[in-house]
Amino acid sequence: MSPQARLLLTPRMCDRCGRCLSACPLNALRVGRSYIMVDWVRCNGCNKCVAVCDSGAIKAIGSASQTPRARSSAYAGSTAAKQPAAGRSAKPVKRKRERDRFEWSLLEALAMLSVTFSAFMAKEALTASATLRAMPTEVLVPVRIVVLAAYYVLQLALLRWLIYRRDGSFTEAFGLAGANTTTAEKFRSAWLVLVGLLGTRAIATGYGLVTRELGLTPQVGADTVTRVFGTAPGGLILAVLMLVFVGPFVEELVFRGALLRGLEARLGVWPAIVVQALLFAAFHRSWWLLFPMTVLGIALGWLAHERRGLWPAIALHSLYNALSVAAVVWVVFSG
Ligand code: SF4
Ligand code: SF4
Repeated sequence: MSPQARLLLTPRMCDRCGRCLSACPLNALRVGRSYIMVDWVRCNGCNKCVAVCDSGAIKAIGSASQTPRARSSAYAGSTAAKQPAAGRSAKPVKRKRERDRFEWSLLEALAMLSVTFSAFMAKEALTASATLRAMPTEVLVPVRIVVLAAYYVLQLALLRWLIYRRDGSFTEAFGLAGANTTTAEKFRSAWLVLVGLLGTRAIATGYGLVTRELGLTPQVGADTVTRVFGTAPGGLILAVLMLVFVGPFVEELVFRGALLRGLEARLGVWPAIVVQALLFAAFHRSWWLLFPMTVLGIALGWLAHERRGLWPAIALHSLYNALSVAAVVWVVFSG
């Protein structure tokens, strides 16, 4: 009996969540970067993979007219009809695929992380230098803000270069084009952001109370922010701009955009979420912050993966920081 293709496969819509692999009772599926393969000889058409694939990358086509050329496997580009010869590994049509959906490679993700790390260390060294600290406050605050802005601009420039050199689109590369455009999807995103904010803040608060009881809380407070931005109203407005809007936006592009997607391609979803969260936490340079920042990083990573775009993660990150900045403003103005 000649096996028949029963599924419409659209790899560019696949986010490699792996649910179809778990659902398939006959181990007839393979999913990788830019390909979905079905062993049509094994496949019995149960459609369990279709039922769990929310992204629409696998759809049922009933009794399809396409007959796979490969005896043991099939490959799909944008339809079930694109299949390679038997025994050959699937090779995507690279240029076309990159235009459809920009895929971050692990190498690009690590290059981005290296530059971010180097720029971060340079920023910290510069702002802590004796030359800067010798400056009067009215000069020091603007200089520190310029250094911080340069740190963000450098990362944006590198991200843009990495995307444009492959003829990609910035919005596609970060899922900023609006993957969840229906009202119901927007409400779901907003709901997840709210739950994520309450959950991460509750965990951070509980952690702070426990470590304070144990005498493990370091001396951190409003001065962490006011040291850079000062206490004048103009400085605090810039703090809001940088810490609530610019910082979360750029950090999400780097960590939940390039890094998470690059790691996902090699490690799978959950290992990638955990690894990027640990790296994100490490960037905060504090043992005490390692736990709450890892929790926040995991929540942001999962949100970016689940919503297949960065806007919800950016919103959660911004709101999380907004609460911290609000606390600082409260401390400054109350006394
Ligand atoms: S998006 Fe669909 S096809 Fe891709 S791994 Fe998940 S369930 Fe499978
Ligand atoms: S239709 Fe059923 S057997 Fe075929 S690949 Fe999907 S889950 Fe596996």
